[in-house]
Amino acid sequence: KIRVRYAPSPTGHLHIGNARTALFNYLFARHNKGTFVIRIEDTDTKRNVTGGEQSQLENLKWLGMDWDEGPDVGGDYGPYRQSERQEIYQKYIQQLLDAGVAYESYKTEEELATARELQKAAKIMPHYEYEFAGMTDAQKADTIAKAKAKGIKPVIRIKVPDDKIYEWDDMVKGKVQFESNTIGGDWVIQKRDGMPTYNFAVVIDDHLMQISHVLRGDDHVANTPKQLMIYDYLGWQPPKFGHMSLIINTATGKKLSKRDESVLQFIEQYKERGYLPEAMFNFITLLGWSPVGEDEIFTRKQFIKQFDPKRLSKSPAAFDQKKLEWVNNQYVKAADLSKITDLSIQSLLQAGVIQSNDLDFKTIEWLRALVALFKDQMSYTSQIVELSDIFFHDPAKLDEEAIAELNNDDALVTLQAFGRQIEQLPRFTATQIMQAIFAVRDEVGVKGRKLYMPIRIATTRSMHGPGIGESIELLGYQRTQQHLTETLN
Ligand code: GLU
Repeated sequence: KIRVRYAPSPTGHLHIGNARTALFNYLFARHNKGTFVIRIEDTDTKRNVTGGEQSQLENLKWLGMDWDEGPDVGGDYGPYRQSERQEIYQKYIQQLLDAGVAYESYKTEEELATARELQKAAKIMPHYEYEFAGMTDAQKADTIAKAKAKGIKPVIRIKVPDDKIYEWDDMVKGKVQFESNTIGGDWVIQKRDGMPTYNFAVVIDDHLMQISHVLRGDDHVANTPKQLMIYDYLGWQPPKFGHMSLIINTATGKKLSKRDESVLQFIEQYKERGYLPEAMFNFITLLGWSPVGEDEIFTRKQFIKQFDPKRLSKSPAAFDQKKLEWVNNQYVKAADLSKITDLSIQSLLQAGVIQSNDLDFKTIEWLRALVALFKDQMSYTSQIVELSDIFFHDPAKLDEEAIAELNNDDALVTLQAFGRQIEQLPRFTATQIMQAIFAVRDEVGVKGRKLYMPIRIATTRSMHGPGIGESIELLGYQRTQQHLTETLN
């Protein structure tokens, strides 16, 4: 039976890379009718942030995932927060102490740091050296007594065997091997504050929660031999591991890291900007996984049906902001106008362009028409704020290119004629406005670009944009005349 887990640490909002890990586990579970578990890894208490867990779970839900077991839904293998599993870890730590493969270690951080510096200076790989090496039992007892007298609390370390090879058949990378002496010496399984370390707790939990497959980021490869060590000492069968390739930001050519400010990296930021969750789901799933065929747009159901970890890529995944926007634009175009209108209204409210008490029936209808005008162009709905600026604010100064377009007699005559023509219109609708433009053509004798461009620039203040008739209709008669007058002066 397939049981997989996503194990976030509540250190902040959900990051794109973690969302990808969650998604692949989710798809793998759903494809195989298995179980998807959420476990909160909160033993690194200094890094936990208040609200971190809730925000992570909300973002997962927003992306369209659900889970069968977890801190909020319960399940047979709980508790699902590591901080609530202390007693369980304690039991196994004791077992390892009793077996003599774990021991209390009293070296202080300063002593360890000094040793590391010396090792570096001597050009040997920094590693922990057994602090009781060559001591008699009496000397060892004496060393411990002295440390205790100084008030030093011990950590618990696990003994790394000599010349042992840890290997596994990785679902993504194939055979991976580590020699035990590259681990860096006996490592800590329990910290001074009594909390287990990640590499220890994760093994206990994955085993007790009967996790069958561990799919996680490439950054955990070097942790796997440590975890295999614990499985080995406890005589447990390890799960199958799969380490997904890292994500490269195509804009910088470097590994996507939280410090990289060239792209948005948190799901929350995309949500705020009005990206669509289905589109994000789609885009993230294609980061390091490829479906059969050339298509790039899939529903969640289709992804579940197709998901096969064999198609996880060995080479790094490219995070391309342009592609993300393209995918989102596909979804915005396909979405209902009402849905996009709602999100756009949120964006306009957030930006302070409109106020919630402006939202009477007539205004909402007008906004709906406005959104319809720009919908196909939008990748995410907060773009409406900039796209529709001219409909809410006094026009900005024209740029040189636009001024050049207007700087001739034909353009002036065209604009004057247009101003007169629209005065006569019985109703200010797109169709009527187009009639007025045709009348200008006949009256002035200009056509094509020479006819449309001056009108477009003078009214919408831009050389590009959606349909001119619709745009002017939404601008309204007053503003249109006002913009014309300003341009002609
Ligand atoms: N809590 C770990 C992390 O946030 C999970 C690692 C794992 O999946 O084993 O990276």
